[in-house]
Amino acid sequence: MGADGIADIHRGYVAGRYRDGAVSDVWTDVTRCAERTFVAYLARCRCGWLGDPHPANPDGYHTCQHELINNHSRGSRPNASSASPAVPK
Ligand SMILES: [Zn+2]
Repeated sequence: MGADGIADIHRGYVAGRYRDGAVSDVWTDVTRCAERTFVAYLARCRCGWLGDPHPANPDGYHTCQHELINNHSRGSRPNASSASPAVPK
């Protein structure tokens, strides 16, 4: 099993949930959208993984980024969390 496929499948990003319930795609930079475009931010990955909704503000954005690293990458990318070790439940 090579690492190439994993890197391609797992592309994490912070998505925004629109008022109609849709979630933005990987090409949307939520930080550049108008302030009230989204009702929430969610960590999302191309593999289909979706994190919990967080407030659509800078704090929520950072929380989503941490979720990607600590919740999603755990197990699937053993070497990805050298800076902040994941805490098992
Ligand atoms: Zn993934």
